[in-house]
Amino acid sequence: MTLPISSMISVEEARDRILAFFSRLQPESVPLLDALGQVVAQDIVAPFDIPPLDNTGMDGYAVHASDTEGASEQSPRTLRVIGDLAAGYIMDTPVGRGEAVRIMTGAPMPPGADAVVPFEETDEPLREVGQAAQKGASVQVFKAARPAANIRFRAEDVRQGQVVVPAGRVVRPSEVGVLSSIGLAEVPVFRRPVVAILSTGDEVTEPGQPLLPGHIYDANAHAVAAMVRKFGGIPRLLGIARDTVGDLTAKLHLGLEADMIVTSAGVSRGDFDVVKDVLAREGRIDFWTVRMKPGKPLAFGAFQAPDGRRVPHLGLPGNPVSSMVSFELFGRPAIFTMLGRSDWERPVVKAITRDAVVNTDARRFYARCIVTTGEDGRLYADLTGPQGSGILTSMSAANALTVIPEDLPRANPGDEIDVMMLDWEHAP
Ligand code: AMP
Ligand code: MG
Repeated sequence: MTLPISSMISVEEARDRILAFFSRLQPESVPLLDALGQVVAQDIVAPFDIPPLDNTGMDGYAVHASDTEGASEQSPRTLRVIGDLAAGYIMDTPVGRGEAVRIMTGAPMPPGADAVVPFEETDEPLREVGQAAQKGASVQVFKAARPAANIRFRAEDVRQGQVVVPAGRVVRPSEVGVLSSIGLAEVPVFRRPVVAILSTGDEVTEPGQPLLPGHIYDANAHAVAAMVRKFGGIPRLLGIARDTVGDLTAKLHLGLEADMIVTSAGVSRGDFDVVKDVLAREGRIDFWTVRMKPGKPLAFGAFQAPDGRRVPHLGLPGNPVSSMVSFELFGRPAIFTMLGRSDWERPVVKAITRDAVVNTDARRFYARCIVTTGEDGRLYADLTGPQGSGILTSMSAANALTVIPEDLPRANPGDEIDVMMLDWEHAP
């Protein structure tokens, strides 16, 4: 097939065109912990009440509240201890008037008792260590208990039949907790996408190998793989393809089992045509010029897999910052969409720039910056330094990207600008 003509498009247009190609993947059942960040595929219903029985929320004495009426330190009420109950054990003997059961947090309430007096309101703390009230001994209550005091009631958290986690919910640690609490060991979630990643370029060398003069180590594949994993996908590194038809073709074929193939380099205008030729020959592909900086050249298309599937292909620019920013803007939404997630948009907030940001070529400028909270409580943005698209340390220094509009040639120190937060947790 022939190469389509490049066209200049906005970030949103590029993203919409890309996302039109993706939908969420099939559901699968996975162990709870592996499901973190995945989307629950069906409503999860509680098979029983939680708590399953009324139980005590405190260590104390299960009593008849009315037996403690008027109790004070000056005039304690004395009750006869008829048992000692730990969590996990059930007591069938009813608690009679004038009686108490020593009871530990979580233990089901013995029949008859309607309140729990915490140890602190009895003479329990006054006893010697190891001299807890034995069965048959007595306990002194120093404070009146209201009926229901310190009882956790059956089903107060979850009622049998209730949806505890709805379909569409992203699994966070709290969902793992709730799902465990109803006894689930596995949860149905939409499958994680496998993303095959291929670097191209005669100069590109695998880290760990000796570096020949004029060559560079492969930063892109590894940075993108890390992003894939962080965004919830499964990265598959295909290695580095030389700029030859044979090597490129062979390595691309290794990726055809994936849900998406990501290549880096070889898509800009100045590139040797071999990468573009092979990409175009092996599948359908568009080469775009996106109105953004860094990361103007971008390719998107699809390869035909032997099983008939069309495997989407994102061709990232070679410069490492461009590659990461492009994967952030286009790869992340694609991965989230395959996961069944629509919350891929990063928070964009206002910050006051302390640096001038110059943007003369009418593209949206995603400059790397550090956003911090000032002493006045407002957010401030400082550029990380030189903004060349090869300066990868600018990414690692940053926790945010500026979003300087295409039509804004300059933001001055003190101006309020939009910043896209990549990382709230780690302001360097
Ligand atoms: P290209 O898109 O092939 O024109 O490459 C643009 C720039 O990115 C060149 O300086 C390449 O050497 C560099 N580059 C290409 N691939 C990688 C890579 N995997 N890791 C780091 N830099 C790369
Ligand atoms: Mg190249």
